Amino acid sequence: MSPTLNSSSPLAPSSLGYRHRHLLGIEGLSAQEIGVLLDLSDGYVALSRSQSKKTALMRGLTVINLFFETSTRTRTSFELAGKRLGADVINMSVSWSSIKKGETLIDTAMTLNAMHPDVLVVRHPDSGAVKLLSEKVNCAVINAGDGSHEHPTQALLDALTIRRRRGSLAGLVVAICGDILHSRVARSNIHLLTTMGATVRVVAPPTLLPAAIELLGAEPFFDMRKALEGCDIVMMLRLQTERMHGSYVPSTREYFRFYGLDRDKLAAAKPDALIMHPGPMNRGIEIDSEVADDIDRSLIRAQVEMGVAVRMACLDMLTRDLRPNDAPRESAPAGGV
Ligand code: ASP
Repeated sequence: MSPTLNSSSPLAPSSLGYRHRHLLGIEGLSAQEIGVLLDLSDGYVALSRSQSKKTALMRGLTVINLFFETSTRTRTSFELAGKRLGADVINMSVSWSSIKKGETLIDTAMTLNAMHPDVLVVRHPDSGAVKLLSEKVNCAVINAGDGSHEHPTQALLDALTIRRRRGSLAGLVVAICGDILHSRVARSNIHLLTTMGATVRVVAPPTLLPAAIELLGAEPFFDMRKALEGCDIVMMLRLQTERMHGSYVPSTREYFRFYGLDRDKLAAAKPDALIMHPGPMNRGIEIDSEVADDIDRSLIRAQVEMGVAVRMACLDMLTRDLRPNDAPRESAPAGGV
């Protein structure tokens, strides 16, 4: 794949197969659609590593990043992704305390819609809010995280990171550890990894493991060592205190003792098992610095790099119909996922 792009995408039109107008979640995407997005992302990794990182693919198109919740990695990487594709990118951060639910979200959407953006990238603290917004606007919408529901680009970047290291996702055993209850990262990853043929285990204290999680295809554990036994990937999650009302763990010290990843617990996994974390990390609570910074085992930095490439791929894919020189993708059902 050529890393030097001017106004064309690194993926041949014939290999396109993403049929949706939006990217609202991983649930409902086929293995083929996920594969197409990952292949396209691979091309953008090459471009981002080359000297001239920019293309003119999205010249004239506008991306608005609308964040109702804080973000470091996701917002920055969407901004960088849009700019590397030549789009005009506008960032809007809306403080949660200054908005009211429901009507204000729709009002905001309608206001932005009147400015004719081509892509809206939206993060919102309420599950389902991004889908609601997508039904009110004329442009493509990307979910950058909605409550504890989904964070599709995080799961895609995780998958890309794993695939580039291990060659394939099929057959791997992945343990997702920590605050599963409040984690949109866990949900999107469970959907993606099971669709791609991996086995997913989830491990948390009983208070942080949602009932019926096995209905999503993940195997639940309360014991961290048992969950890690023989696994290929250990994915750690932060305690999402901003979504907690009340106390879910006795103390962070006790939490670390039973569920924090350290060398001792990691020893239960395969000797070459790799460590991941979506960030932000709370060292000493869910992960020990010794394993987080282990350059042979930790993929945490690589995940950040893959984030830009995946977001470029998503922006590219969702704007193909708007770019006359690119072959159009198969027509999307209006209001589809
Ligand atoms: N950055 C991820 C998210 O937005 C994970 C986290 O915040 O802990 O869901």
